[in-house]
Amino acid sequence: GFPGWEPPDFVLRFARELHQDGAHAQYARSAGAPELVEAIAETYSPRLGRELDPLKEILVTVGASQGIFLALMACVNPGDEVILLEPAFDIYTGAIRMLGARGKYVPLDVKPSDQELASEVFQMNLAAIEAAITPATKALILNNPHNPTGKVFSRDELSALASMLQKYPWVCIISDEVYEHLVFRPYEAVAFASLPGMADRTISLYSAGKTFSVTGWKIGWAIATESLCQRLQDCQQWVVFSVASTLQVAVARSLRFASQTFHPFPSYYEKLRHSYQKKRDQFVQGLRDLGWSPLVPQGSFFILLKTEPFLKSRAFQDFSTVEYQDFARENAIQVASDTYHRSDYNVCRYLSLQAGVTAIPVSAFYAPEHASLETGLIRLAFCKPDADLEEALSRFRRVNLPLLQQKK
Ligand code: PMP
Repeated sequence: GFPGWEPPDFVLRFARELHQDGAHAQYARSAGAPELVEAIAETYSPRLGRELDPLKEILVTVGASQGIFLALMACVNPGDEVILLEPAFDIYTGAIRMLGARGKYVPLDVKPSDQELASEVFQMNLAAIEAAITPATKALILNNPHNPTGKVFSRDELSALASMLQKYPWVCIISDEVYEHLVFRPYEAVAFASLPGMADRTISLYSAGKTFSVTGWKIGWAIATESLCQRLQDCQQWVVFSVASTLQVAVARSLRFASQTFHPFPSYYEKLRHSYQKKRDQFVQGLRDLGWSPLVPQGSFFILLKTEPFLKSRAFQDFSTVEYQDFARENAIQVASDTYHRSDYNVCRYLSLQAGVTAIPVSAFYAPEHASLETGLIRLAFCKPDADLEEALSRFRRVNLPLLQQKK
């Protein structure tokens, strides 16, 4: 899930200039370089609907990944519970376990729909979320836009969650919004902290990685009101102390630049959205032309694909996992043997070996006890140059021939 192109020129130019002048080569302020926290406050005050204090309400982190860890560290003690909506980005689970807390997994509902297949089919089950809350529940992790489904939760869905949470004031919300700019028309990204009553209880997490195609820079930021943010800042002091100075300032300048006109678009963000939306549409069409069933994502750079057409095909049925087991052995790939019973894993193995295109089985985003809930989907990433996406489609076309013949 990383962009297959170079960062935008303006981002590289800022980094180059800053590296050359050497003025930002020493430790940054622990909670974030002043220039970056000021740019973040300016950028996010309108989005979060309140005037952010750059020194007290923002923390710069080593990517959103470290923000997730610090947010959990600030909210939970060993034995506490954290609610996650499944499928869930895997880093949450590892962080919760490392902190000695317990994940309580609430699957998203999959609503059958007559309309075209799209990520809207995933919906929060509020009653199930509420039933999972106990006095030991210290945090709920929300991810919007959502990895791996591409779902963008609507204002109504988020407001319903927020109003239910009013009854449970001891639960902190960790809102991972790293795909905030990858939201396709007509959908909108609603910052959870901007909803009534949620600002004081929400830690919002963002990343320069997705927005500026610099995943390797690992610059992220957490935003929360003072008392909550202070807890994260206190942890940061003893964890990494501070984050790469030059890159922080390059991100600060990029944030300021990105909101200005970006000819012919009103801003860089609009251009980013536009180019990802075009890729999504082309890739979805290419997959449909194969007779496959992609779920059109509302946001993110992921597309889910139904495994059903594969399961029905003779070519897939003839594909023996023994072949894959040999491959794994020869290439020293460690495989959990129980995954040989999961059809989504086997479709991914089939596509890797037969087409040379690797997807991720969606059951991998579920807790082991729920893995059987969802084996009908695999995840593809489309954050790649058009030529790579076309190459993937042409490889799929080659493996698809036996599938099509089988259908006849
Ligand atoms: N949250 C989600 C939902 C992600 O998909 C990712 C990256 N795959 C991250 C957080 C991590 O962000 P970063 O690279 O800034 O650490």
